[in-house]
Amino acid sequence: MRDKYDIVIIGSGFGGLMCGAFLSKHGFKVVLLEMGKVAGGNLQSFVKNGAVFNTGLHYVGAMEKGQILNKIFNYLGVLDRVEFDRLDPDCYDRIIIGDREYASASGFENYAARLISYFPGEETAIRNYVEKIRAVWNSNPFINLRDIDKDKDNVSPFSTEGLVDVINSLTDNEELKAVLLANNGLYAGMPERTPFYVHALINCVFIQSAFTVKGGSYRLADALVSIIREQGGEVLTGKKVVKIRCEELNAVAAVTEDGEEFCADNFYSSIHPAEAVKLFEEGVFRKPFIRRLTEMPNTIGSFILYIKFKKKSFRHFASSIYFSTNTDVWGAKYRLEEWPKSVMMYTSPDEDSAWAQSATVITFMHYDEVAHWEDKQRRNSDPDYEAFKSDRSERVFEMLEKRFHGIRDASESWFSSTPLTYRDYTGSPEGSMYGIAKDYKSEVGPYMPVRTRISNFIMTGQSIGVHGIMGVAMNSIIASSVLIDVNQLIREIREAN
Ligand SMILES: Cc1cc2nc3c(=O)[nH]c(=O)nc-3n(C[C@H](O)[C@H](O)[C@H](O)COP(=O)(O)OP(=O)(O)OC[C@H]3O[C@@H](n4cnc5c(N)ncnc54)[C@H](O)[C@@H]3O)c2cc1C
Repeated sequence: MRDKYDIVIIGSGFGGLMCGAFLSKHGFKVVLLEMGKVAGGNLQSFVKNGAVFNTGLHYVGAMEKGQILNKIFNYLGVLDRVEFDRLDPDCYDRIIIGDREYASASGFENYAARLISYFPGEETAIRNYVEKIRAVWNSNPFINLRDIDKDKDNVSPFSTEGLVDVINSLTDNEELKAVLLANNGLYAGMPERTPFYVHALINCVFIQSAFTVKGGSYRLADALVSIIREQGGEVLTGKKVVKIRCEELNAVAAVTEDGEEFCADNFYSSIHPAEAVKLFEEGVFRKPFIRRLTEMPNTIGSFILYIKFKKKSFRHFASSIYFSTNTDVWGAKYRLEEWPKSVMMYTSPDEDSAWAQSATVITFMHYDEVAHWEDKQRRNSDPDYEAFKSDRSERVFEMLEKRFHGIRDASESWFSSTPLTYRDYTGSPEGSMYGIAKDYKSEVGPYMPVRTRISNFIMTGQSIGVHGIMGVAMNSIIASSVLIDVNQLIREIREAN
């Protein structure tokens, strides 16, 4: 048993790391317990066949001086340690629908002007769209670093609007709708449930500015780990939390798989909420609460093709590419015979940045397709799993060839991951990409409560609010504010620049 900590944080993905950084900066003695061999969760990168691949972060937005993520990273000292490369401001998102191509330009005015140049008859719809996403952004006091009125409901007035309803109300032009929705892979869009605010916040982030983490997303995780350590905190890997011991309705210790106990005054969980409640003995949480968390649908998982290119054989794009075969851009809603309906792709530059060293091609995949190989031992010894992955890789190549002729010949080697890979590496149920799916019809609203009936057990991470780097940063501010005065934290971030 170790000395008592102020705070134990379970999981060292972006959510755990951000809470660790905020809380240790405010003098709390924190320890992060991470089950993986390295910290970072979805920020991890890995090297294979001589190329660096990211597992779950390609680009970040709102990173220009004065914009929200830049302010937060500056406040924490991340900007002194990590370099960010700007994506092409004239085309940070390259949207391909069938044989048509559209560029998204950085800055709200440029973004609108570029869209209007493609759809001159839709100027009103486009201007209304931009105005509406900005209204959603402006309605969120956390993102805008406004003082929080703790007595007021800070929930967005837009939280009950469905994405499809709003887009349909703006235009009848099916091609324009497809362009506006083409990057729905960023939030695993499902027409029947995705709220407009999720789409609006994510699009607003990237319209402001779009950058990648130079050298690989792991550098962001490494920077946060070193910040936490310099502020007196600890980040321990290979420490899977299997139990939280409670005395009455107070958590007292986190127990790891290797039998160590970590005692603390407070416990933060950045893992999936349904997994977090399983760490408690029966009876600690009420059954309806557990049932509700367990039954909430999760976002779909992914099948990812990682390609290493032959030297100088495939061009590097300083853009994220969203490619759908037709105007039905809802890639997560697919029949087996039409898979893959859409892909998200990005390349990483070789030393000569005109050429790509590698590409990461992300498609959606239902867990059902791989559930058969759930058991790791069975999977490793069953040639059918490799045959399945190889078949799916071929299908992705087939789709890519329609637009990027010769990509297969340009490829030196490739390999793939499935939802099972994510389930094993991040503990995300069924390999879900973004955790609990948001539903505009749900009573829960945009933010789940971070506090539970165990008053010193606090939840954070992507499932409790909007996912992604900006969303999880906000969720971390909200969760950290249980122990730090929210307006003090917001003021400090605001004044750091
Ligand atoms: C393929 C993909 C691409 C993405 N691309 C982008 C992008 O370009 N831009 C963007 O903004 N966002 C992107 N995202 C989303 C973003 O990466 C996530 O929303 C964010 O990183 C989630 O952070 P988290 O801390 O909530 O969860 P996670 O990263 O899942 O971290 C949870 C951590 O908890 C650990 N853990 C789980 N159970 C236990 C346990 N019992 N004990 C100890 N540790 C445990 C896990 O190992 C993991 O390290 C992408 C996601 C995916 C999957």
